[in-house]
Amino acid sequence: MKRNAAYRVMASTVVAVGVGSGTLDGMKVRVDQSICTGCELCVGMSPKLFKMSDALSAQAIREEVPRELVEECRDTADACPVLAIEVSGV
Ligand code: SF4
Repeated sequence: MKRNAAYRVMASTVVAVGVGSGTLDGMKVRVDQSICTGCELCVGMSPKLFKMSDALSAQAIREEVPRELVEECRDTADACPVLAIEVSGV
């Protein structure tokens, strides 16, 4: 639950800063493959940001999140059943 709470604070900060300044450049995403279960939910929700790796876990296609995918990235991170998607930056 601590990870979940920390993520929500980070995500809220990202959205708040983005709305206020008009820029979301620098938002980053990664998958903690040590806890990813390989359910493929993130790949289905956000195929431009996530793909499956050879190890049958997901990985971020790109570390930097394009502006137009920020909301989708945040929604996908929220939906991950084990909270393996880490969003940071801004
Ligand atoms: S949704 Fe979460 S657990 Fe499922 S594949 Fe993606 S990162 Fe892994």
